[in-house]
Amino acid sequence: MRADAVVVGSGAGGGPAATALAESGRRVVVLEAGPRLESADFSGAEGAMLARLFRNVAIQGSNQALYAGSCVGGSTVVNDALCFPTPAAVLERWRASGLELAGFESHVERVWREVNATPTDRAHTSRNARHLAVGAARLDWEAESIPRNVRGCANLGLCNFGCPTGAKQSTLQTYIPRAERAGAQVLAETRVERVVVEAGVLRGVEVDGLLVETPLVVLAAGVLATPRILLRSGVAAGSGFQAHSSLYVTARFPEPVHGYYGPTMSFGVSQFAPEFMLENVTVHPVVTATGLPSFGAEHERIMRRLPYLARCVVLRRDAARGSIDVDGKIDYPLLAEDQSALRRGLLAATELYLAAGAEAVWLPLQQPHTIRDLGDAEALLPQAMEPSRLASLYAVHLFGGARMGDVCDEDGSVRGVSGLYVADASGLPGNTGVNPQITVLANAQRIAEGIAA
Ligand SMILES: Cc1cc2nc3c(=O)[nH]c(=O)nc-3n(C[C@H](O)[C@H](O)[C@H](O)COP(=O)(O)OP(=O)(O)OC[C@H]3O[C@@H](n4cnc5c(N)ncnc54)[C@H](O)[C@@H]3O)c2cc1C
Ligand code: SF4
Repeated sequence: MRADAVVVGSGAGGGPAATALAESGRRVVVLEAGPRLESADFSGAEGAMLARLFRNVAIQGSNQALYAGSCVGGSTVVNDALCFPTPAAVLERWRASGLELAGFESHVERVWREVNATPTDRAHTSRNARHLAVGAARLDWEAESIPRNVRGCANLGLCNFGCPTGAKQSTLQTYIPRAERAGAQVLAETRVERVVVEAGVLRGVEVDGLLVETPLVVLAAGVLATPRILLRSGVAAGSGFQAHSSLYVTARFPEPVHGYYGPTMSFGVSQFAPEFMLENVTVHPVVTATGLPSFGAEHERIMRRLPYLARCVVLRRDAARGSIDVDGKIDYPLLAEDQSALRRGLLAATELYLAAGAEAVWLPLQQPHTIRDLGDAEALLPQAMEPSRLASLYAVHLFGGARMGDVCDEDGSVRGVSGLYVADASGLPGNTGVNPQITVLANAQRIAEGIAA
């Protein structure tokens, strides 16, 4: 097979990259490791959809798990549709490191319109989110509804398992069909092993031992894959990995919450940003069972009251930096400052839920406990909060491993290999402190339009 350009991956990086290159008149092939499912295939069955649409990796020597989408549309198919513009302070920091990133803001504005990021009004605020809003109001903390990229959302609350109505404007609904209308061919269940470079010249990509010939490759396989593909291809990569380490806090209210209905996420408490954010998350049963303390009868006792549970996530902008090796092993020890920020986040979420009227709160610790006042929580959390004591520490916002200014230049071109580009979250210089899909989409569009020009 031959193509003018191969885009590897079809998520927040691959979607806009394929569109820009196809619309410039190039014959584009998108190679995507995951399956192609359409809206009608998203059954809403939690266990089955998690197994079909997700990929997860455990961090070595820690109990932290990293999750990403693996299907046509990538993580944008399973994400919660929250949209934040790239924070000005983050762009300032990246620019201070020597990157010009000319016109980045205008791409943010464009992708914002193209994915229909719109304010979330009251009709789309679940009871789960409202508890967060009530607690924040009573404590006089800064908090707000967060815009979402949806068109005609039916409030089904299935965003993490693929939106069955097509309301969520993932790249499966937006950039991928647009690229196809411009002639791009999308091959699902096609995993790229490596980029083939001979005597410094790019020849194409290897799939199942076969060569797809092309003079232009845009890697957008996500943080869990792009650095590994580069390493397998003999390009030095893998450093500067970062995440937003996340912890659940679960609360029980006297009245039913039915937190599995309504947008999975829609409200955030920014009082402590950029140190950490609090955002409401869904309480579907499989996901809820993770991040609760204890096992057996005690665990069952909490789960039996599922309709009364509300949940939020403490989302930390980690200071830690780690690395990814050629086998996909990730070395990412959290720093003491990250551990104390997470501790402060757990206490803040507890205080907020108690202010909102919760009758019990649970932290993601292994030992059985039930918190009825803030003192209980303080007693449970030692100053040095060892990740190994946690029942679940996870991250879905991943960054780096093939960073601009390190592995590639700011136009996305990989140093030393002409025609090879990185256009996904692995190329970002660091974490954003807010949910990053708009930043990834904007950066990919900027890079691909630069190539096209
Ligand atoms: C559960 C979840 C919830 C999230 N919620 C939000 C949110 O509400 N708001 C927000 O802003 N961000 C959210 N994010 C993060 C956001 O979706 C990601 O930051 C963004 O999609 C990353 O874009 P990417 O292109 O780097 O990777 P992805 O979008 O993950 O795309 C990478 C694609 O490459 C494919 N691939 C991997 N390896 C190969 C290979 N070898 N060959 C071919 N293809 C390959 C993968 O299957 C995948 O489809 C969430 C993420 C997750 C997982
Ligand atoms: S809440 Fe809206 S976006 Fe999410 S799955 Fe339901 S219809 Fe789709």
